[in-house]
Amino acid sequence: MKKQTIKDHNFSKQRVLLRVDYNVPILNGVIQDNHRIVQTLPTLKALLNQGASLILMSHLGRPDTLKSSRETELSLRPVAKELEKLLEIKVNFCEEIIGDQVLEKAKSLKPGEILLLENVRYYRAETDKKDPEGMKAFAKSLASLGDVFVNDAFGTAHREHASTCTIANFLPSYAGLLMEKELDYLGRVLENPQRPMVSILGGAKISSKIPLIKNLIPRADKILVGGGMAYTFFKAMNLEIGQSLLEVKLLEECKEIMRMGKGIIELPSDVMVGKIDFKKMEAIGKLHPVLKEEIPIDLEGLDIASATIDHFKKIILSAKTIIWNGPMGVFECQDAAKGTLAIAQALVKATELGATTIIGGGDSASAIKQMGLQDKITHLSTGGGASLEFLEGKILPGIDILSNKK
Ligand code: AMP
Repeated sequence: MKKQTIKDHNFSKQRVLLRVDYNVPILNGVIQDNHRIVQTLPTLKALLNQGASLILMSHLGRPDTLKSSRETELSLRPVAKELEKLLEIKVNFCEEIIGDQVLEKAKSLKPGEILLLENVRYYRAETDKKDPEGMKAFAKSLASLGDVFVNDAFGTAHREHASTCTIANFLPSYAGLLMEKELDYLGRVLENPQRPMVSILGGAKISSKIPLIKNLIPRADKILVGGGMAYTFFKAMNLEIGQSLLEVKLLEECKEIMRMGKGIIELPSDVMVGKIDFKKMEAIGKLHPVLKEEIPIDLEGLDIASATIDHFKKIILSAKTIIWNGPMGVFECQDAAKGTLAIAQALVKATELGATTIIGGGDSASAIKQMGLQDKITHLSTGGGASLEFLEGKILPGIDILSNKK
C-alpha cells in the first residue's frame, strides 16, 4: 500500500473525521444487511483504542436535494442505533452537518466518543461537480470538525465527492483498515496472483463488463463467462439465441474479445432455457437444458446448465485465486438460480481447499448472501461499482487523493 494508513500514525486525543460507506438497505427504519457497517468496526475500534474521538460521515441513497424537506427514509439515524449495538457504546447523532451546532458537538467530543453525522448527500454540495467552489466550501466546513481525515469508504472510493475526496485537501489523510483490506484482496487479483487465477464473470450486460474482461484477459488463467452476457458472445459465433439477452451493437467487440481471450475465455456449453415472468420473478412452465447450439427460437437462456456447471466447478476447484463478479443466471428467480448457487458452493469448497476467493460487490454479493454462504469465502467486497472500477484498472479518486507513505 503506497498510501498512508491508520497504522502509520498515532491518533491519540485527535478528532478523526472518518468517511465510511454506510449506504445500507434500510426498510421502515430497520437495517436489512449490516455487512458494510460490520466491516468498518476494526477501523473504529483501532482508532478508539488509541484514544481518538470519531466524527463519522456517510451518505445513504440519493436524496433529492431540490425537495423542500429531507427524505426521512434516507436518514442515517438507524445506523447510529446499529453501531451502538455493535460497539456497545453510545453513538451520538447530529442532524446538522455544517454550522455551529455540529461544530460545538464535534469540539466537545472526548477521547473514545463517537458522533455520527446525518447523510452528507442531504447537501447538494457533496456531489455537485458543476459547482466546484460550493463543493470546496462544503468540504472545508466538514474538515473544520476534525484534526485528521481517514477514508474507510471503499464502496464510494470511485466517486469524487466533497466528503470522499475534496476534504483530503484540507487535512492530513489516511486510509482505514477496510480500505486497506479491500485494496489488498482486489490488488492480489491484478498483481501477482497465486496461480491458477480464475475469474468468473456474469450478469446481464456485457457492455458493463467490457473494460473488466479486457483488463483480466492478460492476467487470468481462465475467465468463466455465464449470465445474460454469454448470449451476445453466442450470437457473435452465429448461433441462434432465441429470446435471450442480446446487445447487438457489441457483436464485433465480442468477436474481438474472443480473439484476445482465446484459450482463456470459457463460455457455457449448455444453458437452461424457458420463460420467466420478470415482474413476479417466477418461471412460466419449466426450464429445460439445451446445448448452446440448440437454443429454441421462442425461448430465453436464463441460467447455465449441468455440463457447464461441472466444467466450471472443475476449473474453480483447481484455482488458487478466484474473483467472481456477476450471477450465472436470473438468480432472483428460484428456477434459474441453480447455476449461481452451484458456483457459490464451488467457491466455498475452493476456499476450504486453501484458495483465496473474492467476490466483487453488487449482484454476486447479493446472491451469496441470499444463499447464506457469505462467511465461507475469503473476501466479500463492500463496493460494487468501486470493485468493478478497481479491477478494470482505473484509479479510484477517493484513494488517489490520500497522502502517500513517507
Ligand atoms: P449485472 O448488474 O450486469 O451484474 O447483472 C445482474 C443481473 O443479471 C441480475 O439481476 C440477473 O437476474 C441478471 N441476469 C443474469 N443472467 C441473466 C440471463 N441469462 N438473462 C437475463 N438476465 C440475467
